Amino acid sequence: MASVLRSFKAISPALRRPIVAQQPLRAFSVSVNRSAGHGPPQLLGPGAKAGEVPTDEAQSTGIERFELLGKLEGVDVFDMKPLEITRLGTIENPIPVYSLYPQRQVGCTGYPADSHDTIWLNLTTENKYARCPECGSVYTLNFQGDEALLDGGDDH
Ligand SMILES: [Zn+2]
Repeated sequence: MASVLRSFKAISPALRRPIVAQQPLRAFSVSVNRSAGHGPPQLLGPGAKAGEVPTDEAQSTGIERFELLGKLEGVDVFDMKPLEITRLGTIENPIPVYSLYPQRQVGCTGYPADSHDTIWLNLTTENKYARCPECGSVYTLNFQGDEALLDGGDDH
């Protein structure tokens, strides 16, 4: 029994030490910069000061920040306006849909606009046309983006 108590006393100082490991503090921005590698420049806000609730301008990052900064300058960076349909698209004269990505979904509401419920069509660079099964209007993708995206470089 005495030997058990002796061995307990021998390890007890180690048990009194805090278990939390001492790790060096690392700023979050350092991690991002290290992993950024070859990608596009990161859009990072300055963050909130200690004790303050961050605003969207302070905390937004990436594509959200890009959109927010555009709105502050009065620019709709993603062109969220609906397509202006002035005619029915045909195979000979399809309605071009501008896109920076090799795939885009288009909601057709017919011609004139809102003549039928929205039908979603999937436009891709592989398929030259997409025809609405309700009104027959034909759309085509007007791809203006980075050609590297065509190789399947981004699976998003
Ligand atoms: Zn339609």
